[in-house]
Amino acid sequence: MEKILEVNNLHVSFVTYGGEVKAVRGVNFDLHKGETLAIVGESGCGKSVTANSIMKLIPEPPGKITDGTIHFKGKELTKLPNKEMRKIRGADISMIFQDPMTALNPTLTVGDQLTEGLMTHRSISSKEAKKEAIEMLELVGIPNPDERLKQYPHQFSGGMRQRIVIAMALICDPELLIADEPTTALDVTIQAQILDLFDRIQKKTGVSIILITHDLGVVAKIADRIAVMYAGKIIEVGTKREIFYNTQHPYTQGLLNSVPKLNQKGEKLVPIDGTPPDLFSPPVGCPFTARCPKAMEVCEKVYPFKSALSTTHEVDCWLQDERAKELSASHAATR
Ligand code: SF4
Ligand code: MG
Repeated sequence: MEKILEVNNLHVSFVTYGGEVKAVRGVNFDLHKGETLAIVGESGCGKSVTANSIMKLIPEPPGKITDGTIHFKGKELTKLPNKEMRKIRGADISMIFQDPMTALNPTLTVGDQLTEGLMTHRSISSKEAKKEAIEMLELVGIPNPDERLKQYPHQFSGGMRQRIVIAMALICDPELLIADEPTTALDVTIQAQILDLFDRIQKKTGVSIILITHDLGVVAKIADRIAVMYAGKIIEVGTKREIFYNTQHPYTQGLLNSVPKLNQKGEKLVPIDGTPPDLFSPPVGCPFTARCPKAMEVCEKVYPFKSALSTTHEVDCWLQDERAKELSASHAATR
């Protein structure tokens, strides 16, 4: 299948008074046409920074892409002038955020906001734009779109507002939609409806989706593949099946244990003890060492090599590597 996005060796830092925070530290992944990739991890793991890098929305300074490339349909985005990037943003790559209110202008009608996007990217009459806006509201499941176009954001419920934001993100027919915690602010029933909506839209339009979330439960519904991030790195990536049923990284295991399972009522949820490492001076070895129930001698000294368990499943963990024992022994001997 056609690859539309390739992220290679992405490094992103933020310079602060306290020093340089290495928020993303060598991230690699790709995305195929029509695919949904979920990027999952705790807050501060670098998932939003990765997403914002693709949109070229890292504020510089204090932020900076210090290394790596991002190819979107063959075009390298990290070096692209802002003027070029503005043409891509919204038209080819769209992004939606957690809080629908920040994406909507309270002083403009929903119709004006929807048609504005269309008219900046395409030469189209206002009549045609209105027609497309109505179709788009229908697609995202807003009843009476003709009437609703004349209303303001505050006249809609939270769930409906997020549908409008999704409509705005899709109205120019982008090839890539990045959704950063799109359902976190919504209650559980509405969350499920919005996730179904993503699924339906993808089947209809073929849009590729990157879904950023801290909640593995959310991705179970719609992801094709899952990348788990920890301390600025992707530590395990695989198909949904591989991540849920053949989990290899102890951190992924920890995330799974902290997700409520629908069919296992009464089962205790186990939060992961401890906190992620400080990214001012990230550990040289595996960043999960301090929290890992299976940590070995070698783990804190050397970062694990990538082990491939299948063509789609990769994990950064010494448990997968036969050399771990030898290395542990040799490190112990040199002390
Ligand atoms: Fe745990 Fe070591 Fe694997 Fe890191 S490399 S997750 S510390 S076993
Ligand atoms: Mg975030």
